[in-house]
Amino acid sequence: MDSQKNIVVLGAGESGVGAAILAQSKGFPVFVSDKGQITSNYCKILKEYNIPFEEGKHSEELILNASEVIKSPGIPDTAPLIKKLNDLNIPVISEIEFAGRYSNAKMICITGSNGKTTTTLLLYHMLKKAGIHVGLAGNVGHSLARQVAENDFSHFVVELSSFQLDGMKQFKADIAILMNITPDHLDRYDYKMKNYIDSKFRIIQNQTENDAFIFCQDDEIITKELEQISVQVQKHPFSIYECLPKGASLKNDELIIKNENINLNMKQNELSLKGKHNTYNSMAAGIAGSILGIRNEVIRESLSDFKGVEHRLEKLSNVNGVDFINDSKATNINSTWYALESMDDETVWIVGGVDKGNDYNELMDLVKEKVKAIVCLGIDNSKIHQAFDGVIETIVDTNSMQDAVKTAFEIANGEATVLLSPACASFDLFKSYEDRGQQFKEEVLKL
Ligand code: ADP
Repeated sequence: MDSQKNIVVLGAGESGVGAAILAQSKGFPVFVSDKGQITSNYCKILKEYNIPFEEGKHSEELILNASEVIKSPGIPDTAPLIKKLNDLNIPVISEIEFAGRYSNAKMICITGSNGKTTTTLLLYHMLKKAGIHVGLAGNVGHSLARQVAENDFSHFVVELSSFQLDGMKQFKADIAILMNITPDHLDRYDYKMKNYIDSKFRIIQNQTENDAFIFCQDDEIITKELEQISVQVQKHPFSIYECLPKGASLKNDELIIKNENINLNMKQNELSLKGKHNTYNSMAAGIAGSILGIRNEVIRESLSDFKGVEHRLEKLSNVNGVDFINDSKATNINSTWYALESMDDETVWIVGGVDKGNDYNELMDLVKEKVKAIVCLGIDNSKIHQAFDGVIETIVDTNSMQDAVKTAFEIANGEATVLLSPACASFDLFKSYEDRGQQFKEEVLKL
């Protein structure tokens, strides 16, 4: 061990604090710097561990003397401080890269524009059921670094955003899962889709012929990219439109998972997670489980008894004949597309918030087919009106969750389903998508 090496961690959130704990446990002098205010729970942890830190500033005289810098995924590469570090050839890595150096556990890594958290938690549920000593890390659960420092898991299921993938150099996933690629976060990628695609494909960097790559065959961006790059890795595609000799497919409403380890057939209605998108998520998790040698029966059981994830097509109670579904996590058009697609009733759709450059025309066919009325919930609903005025007869503006839920309930009139799937960020009226979903649930309970 090179204990002369001094490490600076930039950003004191879950990943930064985890990286600092791991660095300290490996005997490195470590210093944490956060330009903003550090939340009280992380301050407390840093103090408990006796890790020196600063907040409200970045002291360059300390930071530019580091042997290596671990950067929070929230800090873009274009930040002036990162440029200075690059000019000085001081390596800047991510927390995941750092943690990977100190773990021999099998890494099962999940990325994609949508479906990461659901697939990660579904797979975690499956591995636990199979009796595997598994940790949950990345964007969900505690940071990978902290768990590497404090646990001896044999496997990790890791959810990775593109920002986390960007800082990975030597890290290798034993099993990589790429759910889909649709435009997102382009502001961090010079507004170039190619840069975002490259970032997502880092999930298979360093993989060899002994590793597995699970991906959606129906996603044109993924398949086109795969035609252009040469990969050694074992490919495991999944598709709901094509019948595949290896991987997962759908045939007459039956999910089929087939490879050297498994030949599993399962009725689609046995899956606990409903909707096309969740069929993809179940397929990806099922293939990963089979590669790990988990028995057919355990895979089947896990896919059928998984309880789902809060704020993702979460079914709430029925009030006087009206079902309520909380899909507050749908913050882009693509995820709302899947939510509407999975509805089989007349739907009263609560939509709106901070627009991310949405093209609502992408939803037009589904809206015509499934939506009875639209309840706009946001400060500026003009784009929603532009798209659907004259298409949907009833479009009502609201600007509080209480008003939105009451209005939707009245319109539903004892028979339709109320779906909150905003297709927008939440920050105009709420603290976060969790806050928006929580308020929705509270208002439904009050009815
Ligand atoms: P992420 O972690 O990638 O943001 P989540 O699992 O939290 O994804 O799901 C977010 C939203 O995306 C859900 O509310 C759902 O509407 C939609 N979604 C889930 N899985 C998929 C998928 N495989 N493809 C497209 N949309 C999906």
